[in-house]
Amino acid sequence: METYQLDPLFAELTALRGVGDALAKLMAKACGGNRVVDLLFHLPESYLDRRQRSLIRDALPGQMVTLEVDVIRIERPQSARQPTKVSVSDGSGFADLVFFRSFPEAKLRPGTRVLVGGKIDDRRQIAHPDHIAPAGQPDKFPSVEQVWPLTAGLFAWHLRKPIAEAVGRVPEDVPEWHDPALLRRENWPSFNAALRGLQLPTALPAPELRRRLAYDELLAGQVAIGLMKRRNRVRPGRPLIGDGTLRAQALAAFGHDLTAAQREVLHDIDADLAAPRRMMRLLQGDVGSGKTLVAMMAMLRAVEAGAQAAIMAPTELLARQHARTLAAISPVPVALLAGSVTGRERTRVLDGLADGSIKIAIGTHALVQDGVAFQDLALAVIDEQHRFGVNQRLMLGQKGEQADMLVMTATPIPRTMLLTQWGEMQVSRLTGKPAGRQPIRTTTHSLSTIDTVIAAVSRALAQGARVYWVCPLVSESETTDLAAVEARFAHLVERFGDKVGLAHGRQDTSVREAALADFAAGRTQLLVATTVIEVGVDVPAASVMVIEQAERFGLAQLHQLRGRVGRGSAQSFCLLLYADDMTETARKRLALLRQTEDGFRIADEDFRLRGGGDLLGTRQSGLPGWKIADPETDEGLLHMAGRDAEALLERDAKLTSERGRAIRLLLRLFDRIEAFRTLNSG
Ligand code: ADP
Ligand code: MG
Repeated sequence: METYQLDPLFAELTALRGVGDALAKLMAKACGGNRVVDLLFHLPESYLDRRQRSLIRDALPGQMVTLEVDVIRIERPQSARQPTKVSVSDGSGFADLVFFRSFPEAKLRPGTRVLVGGKIDDRRQIAHPDHIAPAGQPDKFPSVEQVWPLTAGLFAWHLRKPIAEAVGRVPEDVPEWHDPALLRRENWPSFNAALRGLQLPTALPAPELRRRLAYDELLAGQVAIGLMKRRNRVRPGRPLIGDGTLRAQALAAFGHDLTAAQREVLHDIDADLAAPRRMMRLLQGDVGSGKTLVAMMAMLRAVEAGAQAAIMAPTELLARQHARTLAAISPVPVALLAGSVTGRERTRVLDGLADGSIKIAIGTHALVQDGVAFQDLALAVIDEQHRFGVNQRLMLGQKGEQADMLVMTATPIPRTMLLTQWGEMQVSRLTGKPAGRQPIRTTTHSLSTIDTVIAAVSRALAQGARVYWVCPLVSESETTDLAAVEARFAHLVERFGDKVGLAHGRQDTSVREAALADFAAGRTQLLVATTVIEVGVDVPAASVMVIEQAERFGLAQLHQLRGRVGRGSAQSFCLLLYADDMTETARKRLALLRQTEDGFRIADEDFRLRGGGDLLGTRQSGLPGWKIADPETDEGLLHMAGRDAEALLERDAKLTSERGRAIRLLLRLFDRIEAFRTLNSG
């Protein structure tokens, strides 16, 4: 059986009977894709058990109920705008069935006993019951009903037939891709039976059905990762070996030794660089842990080996900062390449990269543009990866023959996500912070006490401290937020005069950079800013961080912001200002920040509080959603799938065995077939 036999599942939704463009759009919105397969895996979030009878007396407002009632009286409308009301009773109380449109007269004759299913409201009314059947014929009444996730304008009755048709498109003879022993042990049905049981149930589905499909999805992901790992393993790289002279010079210029943690991580990286295969390494290090220096050391190793290295940052601001840091300690020529580098300087940089006279390039995505060519790029470093899509990440690596890749992130990635999204990479963690750092003292304050906060800031400024004051700017286009930032700026200027600077994302780049440079140099002491300072801004002298409306930020984001202080040897403070009407979850978040500076713990909590999807707090995060599995709650299955995939690929990396061929179908079903194709195309 070849994967094209699944083609009918990859048609657009409009290929289904009765699905026009408008309905297809709504369905695509609800199920996150516009193909039949997306609908196929759009499973009910719950089921209504219609066999469960309720008493009118006990029914709660908003509850889906099935009642067995006697029809008492029919109240006809006085005018066309009024509904028909049917009064019913089950002995425990009275209820009304309400019909604004067609009224099923034949089924509801006074004196008959009927089964009625629908949603009851706080006035004990059921508007347009979903089902009505004679009490003597319960088989006419569905015993269980799917509750699919919907969207405005989309109703369950829209989905019923298209989903049945989608399930019908799954080939009858789709082979089993799981080990029969596993199925027996877990008591799992076949793929087809699980889908049918969940999508077209005749009884409440057993939990095994969903688990089977969740495992299918997780296994597809783990096999894809296993295939990528194998590709990396066989993809030739080049050994990069150096004598350490450039590193020693750079460290001497820096004036500090590497910390033990930095040395440990570098040890891993050096082993990768020296090996004759490509490095694919993810360096996770909390804010302020000193990743930049590690990157510098790695890049100098490439240069010692006679080649070039590049580091790509997500914003020009960061690229410039890296350029300054690296230029200050680099014994070899470095150059900045970013959008604003134009004209003669740009030509100089491009020539230098092409002829190899510039050894280290620092830049933004400008680095991966077409006109940029390196003489011999051997190491590509990507900083703050989550701002980049997977493709941009890979593109920088493609600027060199067999370039090694080092990806750095300050956003700690929870364990399960590492397994599912980054499984093909080796992972290093940079823990702790360079010595001499004191923990940041974090406190929370009601916005109504802002005067005391300002008084505290005033005292700090008098002692020469440098202070960030962050206001939320959720979207760069939200004018009300912008107005709030500017109002706060004006307010603080009134108080502290020209000690105050302002930086936000809607200023011209040059204006913003100047504001940051003034603050870094101490020409201003108080910087009012938005989250433009969130990532990577490094002003070691800054020791106070005030965050206004802290409850509006994500935890990970607050952690990043706080990481802008505590970078020098002085005691640092973080003051979180909140509105009194914040939610209980928000209160918990702020309490957690008060308790810990451990980014890994904060990330895990954040993951839990947000439900995982938007962990990075950026819409560009590009993390593919899960259709059925939830890697957090299904973590046991995830580990099982990892072992299963490894064992399979160990025996059959080309997926040619009978099971291997079935697994190809699985990969196709869950959109992972690319991993297989690229592997086999070289
Ligand atoms: P990250 O990028 O991981 O957030 P940085 O690389 O910006 O962290 O480093 C944070 C601060 O620590 C910087 O001011 C940097 O100069 C300093 N630093 C890094 N490594 C060391 C070290 N080994 N000794 C002393 N200071 C260091
Ligand atoms: Mg950094």
